[in-house]
Amino acid sequence: MAATDLERFCNEEKRNLSLGGHVGFDSLPDQLVSKSVTQGFSFNILCVGETGIGKSTLMNTLFNTTFETEEASHYENAVRLRPRTYDLQESNVHLKLTIVDAVGFGDQINKDESYRPVVDYIDTQFENYLQEELKIRRSLFNYHDTRIHVCLYFITPTGHSLKSLDLVTMKKLDSKVNIIPIIAKADTISKSELHKFKIKIMSELVSNGVQIYQFPTDDEAVAEINSVMNAHLPFAVVGSTEEVKVGNKLVRARQYPWGVVQVENESHCDFVKLREMLIRVNMEDLREQTHTRHYELYRRCKLEEMGFKDTDPDSQPFSLQETYETKRKEFLGELQKKEEEMRQMFVNKVKETESELKEKERELHEKFEHLKRIHQEEKRKVEEKRRELEEEMNAFNKRKLAVETLQSQSLQATSQQPLKKDKDKKN
Ligand code: GDP
Repeated sequence: MAATDLERFCNEEKRNLSLGGHVGFDSLPDQLVSKSVTQGFSFNILCVGETGIGKSTLMNTLFNTTFETEEASHYENAVRLRPRTYDLQESNVHLKLTIVDAVGFGDQINKDESYRPVVDYIDTQFENYLQEELKIRRSLFNYHDTRIHVCLYFITPTGHSLKSLDLVTMKKLDSKVNIIPIIAKADTISKSELHKFKIKIMSELVSNGVQIYQFPTDDEAVAEINSVMNAHLPFAVVGSTEEVKVGNKLVRARQYPWGVVQVENESHCDFVKLREMLIRVNMEDLREQTHTRHYELYRRCKLEEMGFKDTDPDSQPFSLQETYETKRKEFLGELQKKEEEMRQMFVNKVKETESELKEKERELHEKFEHLKRIHQEEKRKVEEKRRELEEEMNAFNKRKLAVETLQSQSLQATSQQPLKKDKDKKN
């Protein structure tokens, strides 16, 4: 359908008709409910807070069960995200619950990079979902959605102010996940201090531009309770799986020599408020916000990074097909350019090597000529020496012969002399 036809169709006035009798489409909401119940739900909670702040205890208290956890050590050399998935059932509703613990958070001496593994984990879950969406054969129907729906940020009950690690981490996370800040171990801080601490935290979050999750007030059914609860943030909670007898009832509480802190007593802490807001009233909104706000932002940035856009430079709609074609052409052009560059580079390299080899050959030749000259010179000298020696030898031989001749003559002369003497004597 052409764009103008589509516009005309959309702008056409819709006519209201009354039905003659019951048709049945009023059962659509029920059909939806039944379908969702059969499918089951998934909910993923990320717990960020220092080791020993009470994350595991609070999760056990929230879901009224004991999740398998091993005590984290304080000697982790980096923050590590540990997801654990559980199948829970309440009435006929199945919930695939994933609790992700930021193990080792705040335990390192240098905490500059503590937020990074948390951010990376959240992005990886978005990326996995995006990859599934982009597949030709998608199976989102039974895809295990691991995107984080809520981040419970555990604040240490110091009574002073937020630590810079808390502010930095929350700031890095606020565009990626719904953050609900909670003051942990609220039984360790007095009521008046807690009140001041809550105000301080909220003002610090506002002045640092940290966006925390606001319970939605656009749905009439929950608008009132949600706006009241928004004013109670951050919730100050106490966790315990221990049961203590109060009156004639067994309640979850923490028992101290001076008294009992009841987890579900609203005048003792905000645990009930947190459970109500997180699970009973706003679980679906948290899931929806994750998909429509945080994931949408991730998807948009990622697709834009990949070069996809909805409009061309003249603000005209630009289809995915056109983007693909443009990108393909750009890519092919780029490829050709790279190929040409590489070919040129190869030719230059060959030329360079060729001239280097020629130079080497010339040097070798020169060396050879030089050596040849030296060799000839040496040869000439040796030849001359030989000649001199031969001449010396000839002269020597001549002298030797002369000496020998002289010697034989003198021998002869001395042998004749005694005979002459005898003769003289006789005479
Ligand atoms: P995690 O390392 O953050 O998971 O902390 P844990 O849940 O293992 O709790 C560490 C310790 O704090 C345990 O001894 C808990 O009993 C205790 N704890 C947990 N919640 C609270 C609380 O609300 N108040 C107090 N005073 N102690 C708590």
